[in-house]
Amino acid sequence: MLSKTKNGKMASSKRNPLNRETLLTHLGRRPDEQHGLVNTPVSRASTILFPDLETLQERSQPYLYGRTGNPSSRSVEEIVTALEGGKGTRLTPSGLSALSCALTSVLSSGDDVLVTDSAYEPTRKFCDTFLTRMGVSVRYYDPRIGKGISSLLKPHTRAILVESPGSLTFEIQDLPAISSARGQGDIAIIADNTWATPLFYKPLELGADIVVHAGTKMFVGHSDASLGTITANEKYWHQLHETHYQFGLCAAADDCFLAARGLRTLAIRMGEHRPRALEVARWLENHELVKRVLHPALATHPDHALFARDFSGSGSLFSFAIPRAPQAALAALFDGMNLFGIGYSWGGYESLILPVDLSENRTVTAPDKDEQLIRIHIGFEDIEDLKDDLDAGLRRYRSAMG
Ligand SMILES: *Cc1c(COP(=O)(O)O)cnc(C)c1O
Repeated sequence: MLSKTKNGKMASSKRNPLNRETLLTHLGRRPDEQHGLVNTPVSRASTILFPDLETLQERSQPYLYGRTGNPSSRSVEEIVTALEGGKGTRLTPSGLSALSCALTSVLSSGDDVLVTDSAYEPTRKFCDTFLTRMGVSVRYYDPRIGKGISSLLKPHTRAILVESPGSLTFEIQDLPAISSARGQGDIAIIADNTWATPLFYKPLELGADIVVHAGTKMFVGHSDASLGTITANEKYWHQLHETHYQFGLCAAADDCFLAARGLRTLAIRMGEHRPRALEVARWLENHELVKRVLHPALATHPDHALFARDFSGSGSLFSFAIPRAPQAALAALFDGMNLFGIGYSWGGYESLILPVDLSENRTVTAPDKDEQLIRIHIGFEDIEDLKDDLDAGLRRYRSAMG
């Protein structure tokens, strides 16, 4: 049984903590503070008024200024903090700004950061340009390095960025091994957990200190808003909170509303995305033109054992490899797609397809030059219709290969 305490917080009469589906349904709502409205309304606000001088000087009301927190941002922060099991969460206007804020919150001039070679491409650009310009040494490592990362550590290494599975190539990282290899020093592990969501992967429990999400993807879930979330553990919460404040970062109330609404159905959507993406992945594995499928929940994936150990489910997004062919063949495949949309991002109800080009964003791992990688997001269309669309595309590709 759930009961509401005076301040609207959830209390459970059971001794067990509430399960994630229940948290997704109930957290971040304060009907008693908003005339009984079930959903936290959009709080468009810069100025927030104080009743008197003392309240202003003591800062003794929940919200002080629109940018630093309002009911809309709090609704999302509460849910994400509970799901990730962190000390607190801050919101940013995009996943990328969440990553740059997390990195700058732990790095100073003269420090060294180790970044997975499979990092999201704009994260990599941020490291190579901004961080480098600020005097941080940036080095990349093989996502499959595991405990071997100990040989790369330098006295001034202050952060390790992990992303598991990796963007575009879907390597799984041995986060517990990386965490124990860093020893007792002050090295922060920052994890991009966008793919699995906290429903299927819990980086803070496996040794990470800060978890970042492109809420744009699965949290919002409908391709109509951008949002980033950063959740820190006790050790890094203060400096994250300070850096976030100093940058003046905040998310628009309307986008917070859409993320809170999306989170209500996250478990249901992930529960649908998971078997659908897997079914298409297995079907592609048996397709005559497909060389390999990069989906960590497949038994054939080289990191499947690690995946099975650390993840409790898989997401909507994966890649597959076909033999490389001239541009005209790729155009024949893409331009004739009927259901799969050609576009960036992912996480919505609609299926998407994107060609993968690794030439600009891998320096430690060597992409196979005979392969053409294609990344797909599996949405909620009928699965047989999606397979037909892909099959027709692959046939066009083969005919145009010459
Ligand atoms: C999309 C994405 C991001 C960036 O999110 P934006 O909201 O587009 O800035 C970061 N990491 C991963 C893994 C992503 O897929």
